[in-house]
Amino acid sequence: MTPEYLQEEVAADSCLVERFALANNNAREVSNHSLVALKFGGTSLLGAERMLHAAGLVRTAAQDLDVVVVVSAMKGVTDRLLSISRALAEGKLSHASNEAEGLIHLHFNVLQDLELGEENQDRVRRGLQLLGRDLLHEVPSQGRVLATAELADRLASFGERFSARLFAAALEKSGVPAVPVSSSDFVLTCDTFRDAKPHLEETKQRGRGILLPLLEAGLVPVVTGFIGATPDGRITTLGRNSSDFSGAIIAHVVDAEELVIWTDVDGVYTANPHDSVEAKLLHDLSYDEAHALAAGGAKVLHPQVLPLAAETEMTIWIRNTFKPHVRGTRIGLPQNSNNRAQFGGAA
Ligand code: ADP
Ligand code: ASP
Ligand code: MG
Repeated sequence: MTPEYLQEEVAADSCLVERFALANNNAREVSNHSLVALKFGGTSLLGAERMLHAAGLVRTAAQDLDVVVVVSAMKGVTDRLLSISRALAEGKLSHASNEAEGLIHLHFNVLQDLELGEENQDRVRRGLQLLGRDLLHEVPSQGRVLATAELADRLASFGERFSARLFAAALEKSGVPAVPVSSSDFVLTCDTFRDAKPHLEETKQRGRGILLPLLEAGLVPVVTGFIGATPDGRITTLGRNSSDFSGAIIAHVVDAEELVIWTDVDGVYTANPHDSVEAKLLHDLSYDEAHALAAGGAKVLHPQVLPLAAETEMTIWIRNTFKPHVRGTRIGLPQNSNNRAQFGGAA
């Protein structure tokens, strides 16, 4: 067990959500209206049980802070959506439409398992039905389809759009008023489909117009990661695994004090902990150190997060959804802390 003096040190050196929980509402270090962005990856949202568990983490944060949530698609869903795009390109129309039907069922099953009250269930079901109809519209049962990168992005976008609706429903069920928001309504990008670059200034302006009124109304916006749209409204994606980047963009839009990336490992390690028993958990990283690891293939963090975080001096935490008692990795400006992990020749 951690000695008491060390616990105090960790408490002062933990993410905002922990600091509030530990302060037990006594001496508040930060104002009531501090804002955090919480991003959940696909493993954290895989099925109703995990969504409700993740919703519990949001509820804890939302007791003391304003919260914006950013979600990925459920694990495996984006791969399956992109396989529909490939099947269409190869003229395998029945395979494509079976896969689309299968994905729609998958999400309806999660809705069922959330066991919402009748009214909420009907409302969310209608939202999913509309999305499902739009997805099937992209997948004709006969004729020819011109399979373009633009179509691939449009198809890929459905995963995040389904999961934002379901996660908002999980939050409502957990007593947190929430509303799904499509990032394509404000994340403005170029038209390089599959790897679109955001226009940050316009995104910030448009995003604030949408998100701030929701926060003022006491709602938690549940924003789709991964997707944006061109100025003429065509859906784009920011590249595979880019919901972390969306998390940073959205944190920047609302001027969040911190971005917490909730994932399936305890933080950033020296190597992939699933591949190497030697991998060591890193306690604190500078933006440059984190960028070097991400650019070198550490999938736990999308490399494009770091330049934006560094420019805006945003603090980022990588934490394990399934072990919320573990502190995680902090990425940010150096702190007066003597518990920094060793990282090569780090500053
Ligand atoms: P999410 O769906 O939450 O975005 P990802 O699968 O994209 O999660 O990223 C988390 C995974 O990154 C971990 O399960 C781990 O296998 C992998 N990974 C690769 N390199 C590292 C590293 N250096 N530190 C931590 N995790 C890593
Ligand atoms: N769902 C997208 C993907 O699988 C984005 C992400 O998960 O970060 O690439
Ligand atoms: Mg990821």
